[in-house]
Amino acid sequence: RAVREVFVRLYEKGLIYRGQYMINWCPRCHTALSDLEVVYDPTPGNLWHIKYPLEGSDRYLVVATTRPETMLGDTACAVHPDDERYKDLHGATVILPLLGRKIPVIADPIADPEFGTGVVKVTPAHDPNDFEMGNRHNLPRIKVIDETGKITAEGGPYAGLDRFEARKKVVADLDAQGLLVKVEPYELSLSKCQRCKTPVEPLVSTQWFVKTKPLAEPAIEVVKTGRIRFIPENWTKTYFEWMYNIRDWCISRQLWWGHRIPAWHCKSCGGVTVAREDPKKCSHCGSGEIEQDPDVLDTWFSSALWPFSTMGWPEETEDLKRYYPTSLLITGFDILFFWVARMIMMGLEFMGDVPFRQVYIHGLVRDAERQKMSKTKGNVIDPLEVTEKYGTDAVRMSLLQGAAPGTDIVLTEERMVASRAFANKIWNAARFLFLKMQAAGVEPHIPESEALEEAPLEDRWIFSRLNRCAEQVNKAIANYRYHEAAQTLWHFFWHEFCDWYVELKKLRLEEGSGLNRDWRNLLTAFETALRLLHPAMPFITEELWQRMAKGSEARPRSIALAPYPQPRGEWSDEEAERRMELLQEIIVSA
Ligand SMILES: [Zn+2]
Ligand SMILES: [Zn+2]
Repeated sequence: RAVREVFVRLYEKGLIYRGQYMINWCPRCHTALSDLEVVYDPTPGNLWHIKYPLEGSDRYLVVATTRPETMLGDTACAVHPDDERYKDLHGATVILPLLGRKIPVIADPIADPEFGTGVVKVTPAHDPNDFEMGNRHNLPRIKVIDETGKITAEGGPYAGLDRFEARKKVVADLDAQGLLVKVEPYELSLSKCQRCKTPVEPLVSTQWFVKTKPLAEPAIEVVKTGRIRFIPENWTKTYFEWMYNIRDWCISRQLWWGHRIPAWHCKSCGGVTVAREDPKKCSHCGSGEIEQDPDVLDTWFSSALWPFSTMGWPEETEDLKRYYPTSLLITGFDILFFWVARMIMMGLEFMGDVPFRQVYIHGLVRDAERQKMSKTKGNVIDPLEVTEKYGTDAVRMSLLQGAAPGTDIVLTEERMVASRAFANKIWNAARFLFLKMQAAGVEPHIPESEALEEAPLEDRWIFSRLNRCAEQVNKAIANYRYHEAAQTLWHFFWHEFCDWYVELKKLRLEEGSGLNRDWRNLLTAFETALRLLHPAMPFITEELWQRMAKGSEARPRSIALAPYPQPRGEWSDEEAERRMELLQEIIVSA
């Protein structure tokens, strides 16, 4: 419903239109591809130099092309207006080889005097630059390659051939007629379908477009003025580059799934009816003979509405009021444009406000050799498999430790093994505590913290360390430095809480002691540390916290709902830290 509403509103505003457009077409997937769905592959190819005879003269022009089969659709040759070699030929006529069509020589700045001979063939129906040039010079577009990649009837003797077969035959025929001057090896950047890797065929077709310039301007503005911030910062530049050069967005797709375009074509008058509800009649002539457009919308069209469509928009729901805008979006850079930029544009257009205030761009997860994981390389770490093997918390901890902003995450088995050991360390410490509690006659509960002035050194020390840990972790999280948060927690829990504090505390715990000061401090420190660790290792901390908290009546249902520990200045105790350091040195060196 939101999708339809947005489509209709944009259409009524003149921001959605149907247009003849040079699109990237995949002859295998039979669909239009957006610029972003095309990948460029450096591929060895050839540059064929072909003679185009001038009409009524012995002279000829030599054009260079990487796609000789498209010459069947040539409707002009172009030279640069300032190119001295060809100044006398502006407006002359050449005879298109093989087909014998008469085509003009035009002057257009897009012809690069440095490329080949400085003469280019112009194929408005099969090349984006030529399409533009064709518009400038009013050239006919002759479609010689169809949607399946075969030569059309316009291709004369080549009709019905696959485009690559046609290339061979065209070259052979040119050669036989003495019109092939030379063939040079030439590396080209071949555009391919992102999904199936078939070379893209630029085709002219009628598609639906969103006019993006008016939407992009406010979307640039909000990033300029800092209402939306990218982290790491360097993505801002990439965003601007893309937004300043944005082209209209082709939103129609020829697929079997997706949102159908809410437009109906009239058989009587040819008019288009765009409507929120399925119409019965043509809005132009009233005819009942209307048919819905067979195309569906690009999936990114509905994804762009996600921040408000999921909250019930266009209804003014409570959720919408409460959760729009959100504070933070976390995503990968590969969908920064597909998704993030478009959410910003649509959010500003339909909600009048940014959809989120900060965008955190995380790295890719790579293997130990820093290779991108891919199925073909066989270096993919299956998250479900390693979760089974090492535990969810260990995998999460491993990812966090590698998650420095602006870098990719290197995920290795070694790191997951270490994280599993860390989880075991915590588990064993907890098991020890629970056993000792039982022996001491202490009921599981969430303890009250108490004044530390009179407490023994190890208590004053661990609370001082806990305070520092909370301070560092909170700061790291606020700055998206998750790896620092993870490392700080790791160090505190393992090397301070388990290795020293619990060991020292063991000496003081007595059977049947009941809940005394030692227990209150020990349990307070442990419970606080669990809450601090919870975002990094949610499962183990929840499990242990539940066991510990079960005796407390008034408690949150989950550790996730308990307050996140903040630094507490009154716990800071530099003197205790100094004395403890000394003690540690003595013990370690002994
Ligand atoms: Zn394809
Ligand atoms: Zn009609």
